[in-house]
Amino acid sequence: MFKKMKGTYDILPTEVAKWQKLEKVIRNVSKIYNYKEIRTPIFEKSELFHRGVGEDTDIVSKETYDFIDRGKRANTLRPEGTAGVVRSYIENKLYTSNVPVQKMYYVGNMFRYERPQKGRYRQFSQFGAEAFGSNSPQLDAEIIAYAVSILKALKIKDVNVHINSIGDAESKKNYKEALLTYLAPDIDKLCSDCQVRYTKNPLRILDCKIDAENPILQKAPKPLDYLTETAKIHFVKTCNYLTAMGINYTVDTSLVRGLDYYTHTVFEVKANLDTLGAQNTICGGGRYNNLVKSLEGPDTPGVGFAFGLERLMFALESINFTGDPDYLHLYMMILGEDQKEDGLQLVNRCRLGGLYTDLDFLDKGMKGKWKQAANLKARFVAIFGEEEQKNGTINIKDQETGKEETIKKTQLYNYVVAELMKPSSNCEGCSTESCDECEDV
Ligand code: AMP
Repeated sequence: MFKKMKGTYDILPTEVAKWQKLEKVIRNVSKIYNYKEIRTPIFEKSELFHRGVGEDTDIVSKETYDFIDRGKRANTLRPEGTAGVVRSYIENKLYTSNVPVQKMYYVGNMFRYERPQKGRYRQFSQFGAEAFGSNSPQLDAEIIAYAVSILKALKIKDVNVHINSIGDAESKKNYKEALLTYLAPDIDKLCSDCQVRYTKNPLRILDCKIDAENPILQKAPKPLDYLTETAKIHFVKTCNYLTAMGINYTVDTSLVRGLDYYTHTVFEVKANLDTLGAQNTICGGGRYNNLVKSLEGPDTPGVGFAFGLERLMFALESINFTGDPDYLHLYMMILGEDQKEDGLQLVNRCRLGGLYTDLDFLDKGMKGKWKQAANLKARFVAIFGEEEQKNGTINIKDQETGKEETIKKTQLYNYVVAELMKPSSNCEGCSTESCDECEDV
């Protein structure tokens, strides 16, 4: 028997409703913030990620799925979404649009060769957003507000926004020098990867997974102390705008995040839920003012975030998040071989009209058919046998009320629709959005 690859998982039809509902919420909130969906390829030129994400990051140096295609091109399965969106923004010249601030989001699979554990997979899904074309701290604050709104819409309450600034290029340079000086006497006490990072890209040392708890790193200088005046103003304004929008946040001076392209604001959203375990960061993002230029585009600032959807799903487990219920409007029982053509015509008519309709394909006996109708949660069951065919009628039973009637077969569709429109017996006729009974109609 074939088994799925390590670090991958199936979403079975019984679970897919939850994912669809999650995506629905994402799309609704994105619309509210006026972010438009973009879909980019799952693989890109390897070089895009090497340059975009950074050669020395764990993602690129250890985790990419690389392959040479039959045309001898070097391809990489995308490990994150930003580089592809930036590539598309540049290639399609979206910076020439009459909407100068381009706000986009994506939902899709990413691939990283990581050690699988709860909340960490080799194929996983991210929902991410990117906004290009403005350096305003309003946009930093908006993107954080957007991330928080997603969690609010999903009714995840206990969340913390951690925010920091690593500043502009000059701040990053000053900080880097201070960090190198500080680490110089102790570098041999850090892991072998960090010793390489020390010469190649010292900022990466700060988010080393191995040395995370090392006191040497915990006492290291903080980026906030090396911000230029401009970077300081940017950060203070971002914080003030968050406060103005009623968003609570914690300034986390050691937050840097693992990707090279960040400048100014970096942030993470954590959820305090038992179901998440150690992997409680469900969203990470920040500003990347140099990325578009470094990928051969015009000098355009950007800011974005990415949510890990699996972790979001774990978070949702603890609040009993469910998808829309699965049910049929109509289950059709065609009783004999000679009734199949007429019966299928009736099924077809109901489906054309939009009724969720199914039927028995296994020529089961009546007992089996009734069991199927119940398993499929059919509201109505229609029975079409020899006698009904002769009389031009159909027998229909409402599984909710037990009401049974014989109607003209041509009336089947209208009958079911009319019955579905009636308020259900469980509904108090409120027609509010929160009423499942009304919503179903
Ligand atoms: P990153 O692109 O590394 O900033 O990650 C953004 C978000 O994606 C994280 O906060 C996680 O929620 C999620 N994520 C990253 N790597 C994985 C993985 N291997 N498996 C599942 N989720 C992941």
